[in-house]
Amino acid sequence: MLITCPYCGPRDLSEYTYQGDANRTRPDPASTDKDAWYSYVYERVNTAGEHREFWQHSGGCRSHLLVTRSTLTHAISFVGFAREHGELKHQERRKGGKA
Ligand SMILES: [Zn+2]
Repeated sequence: MLITCPYCGPRDLSEYTYQGDANRTRPDPASTDKDAWYSYVYERVNTAGEHREFWQHSGGCRSHLLVTRSTLTHAISFVGFAREHGELKHQERRKGGKA
């Protein structure tokens, strides 16, 4: 499987590290809502079809990517930088970065 890094171009899967499901929204770290944390940690959807995932180009430019991949065919329909798609803004705020 090839993933086309927006910065480096097409590269083999062995250069990437899976970083997790991009469909879930992490609760506020200060939240004590046990149901929200339980849902975030344990409840997963087993999608048959298009699935949004975070990958890191760990063997290349080390960029964090948002990838939309079919779980049925492994066809990739979208690759973009995760920072440009809003999902990492919450984590960046915790580190003191730009939101
Ligand atoms: Zn790259």
